[in-house]
This record gives sequence, structure tokens and C-alpha cells, in this order.
Amino acid sequence: MSSNAFASLSLDPALLKNLQGLGYKEMTPIQAQSLPPILEGKDVIAKAKTGSGKTAAFALGLLNKLEVKRFRIQTLVMCPTRELADQVSKEIRRLARAIHNIKVLTLCGGMPFGPQIGSLEHGAHIVVGTPGRLLEHLDKGRLKLDDITTLVLDEADRMLDMGFRDDIRHIASQMPANRQTLLFSATYPDEIQSLSADFQKQPVSVSVESVH
Ligand code: ADP
Ligand code: MG
Repeated sequence: MSSNAFASLSLDPALLKNLQGLGYKEMTPIQAQSLPPILEGKDVIAKAKTGSGKTAAFALGLLNKLEVKRFRIQTLVMCPTRELADQVSKEIRRLARAIHNIKVLTLCGGMPFGPQIGSLEHGAHIVVGTPGRLLEHLDKGRLKLDDITTLVLDEADRMLDMGFRDDIRHIASQMPANRQTLLFSATYPDEIQSLSADFQKQPVSVSVESVH
């Protein structure tokens, strides 16, 4: 077995089998670096360029620890835009195909409130959304974050560029402090360090530099 094989990880066999079906054999470099500490439950800050497979890195981590029988929102993934949130939801669903009855809910701005409110009433295991809309649902008492065990900040650099820092702070303040927080970014400006300092505990830093 190559050292970068997914099978070298302590992943749920159903997830491993599904990865084979998807044709994911080897971990990408950022997956190989970030998945071991993620699966140990550590906070991780990961930097790698677009297209390097960051979504599966956090998605496999959160799916591996999800308690499917507990129908509560256990994971919140924040993304800068609706397009990115849709892509992340799609990838999580693909990777979760082996696990029955996992409910992933996407909550983004620019979409009507009605269906989102209805979906929140039905419940979910995983919520993916943009900070502004998540905050609106939270403030109205529709989104409950008491059972969150994993918070993911995806494309954190872009979320900061778009001015979401205060929204993220407000949302994170409504979650249990003993959660795992994963931060993914394509670049690593000083503000990312400070965002990490706000939300993460003794994070493991991993980064894959572009060879070009
Ligand atoms: P990033 O978030 O770093 O920009 P993505 O998570 O969107 O990158 O991944 C880019 C593409 O690579 C996606 O189409 C995804 O399905 C694919 N991919 C991710 N990990 C693997 C892997 N280990 N093997 C094969 N394809 C992968
Ligand atoms: Mg990404």
C-alpha cells in the first residue's frame, strides 16, 4: 500500500469503499498532511492552492466522526459564496453516499427564505452556508448550534476579503467551545493567523506550496 493511500487512514470502512468507487485512490498532498491530525480531532489550519482537494480533507474528517443516529446539526461549514457552498455540499454528499440518511442542508444568501426555514424545521446533520444568511437564521432562532462538534471555515482568506469577520465571530460564539475547528485557505495573510487565534485551540498548521 502506498503511504498516501486513503486505506492507510483510520477511516470508516464504508467511507473507504465509497472513495474507491469514486476513483479516489491516493490522497492529494494537502489531504495526506491534514487528514491524520483532523482524524485525531485536532484543530487544523491548512493552506493549499485551489484545486488541491481541500474539500475532501475536511469532509472526510467531519463525516468520519458524525453520529448519524443523532439527528442534530453537528457540523457547520462556512463558505464565502453560494457557488462555493453548493460545490462543498455536493462533494460532501458524494463522499457520504455510503452512509445512509445523512442530511446536508445548504443555507445561502440570494435564495428565498421559505424553503430554508422549512428545511431547518425538518433538521439536518450538516449545514453548509454563507455567513450572512447563517447569521440571519441564527438571530431568528431557527438555526441551533448547541450540538456542533466541527466548525469548518473554508476559503477563509476570501471570507475575510468579503468582510465576513464579524459575522463569523458572532456565529462561532454561539457554538460549544470544545468543538473542533478546521480552517482552510488558499493564501496565508496575517489576518488568517489572527482569525485562527480567535477560533482555534493549538492548531496544527499544514501547507502545500505550489511547485510552479
Ligand atoms: P480545493 O478546495 O482545494 O480548491 P477541491 O476540493 O474542489 O479543491 O478538489 C478539486 C477536485 O479534485 C475535485 O473535483 C475533487 O473531486 C477532486 N479530488 C479531490 N481529492 C481527490 C483525490 N484524492 N483523488 C482524486 N480526485 C480528487
Ligand atoms: Mg475549496
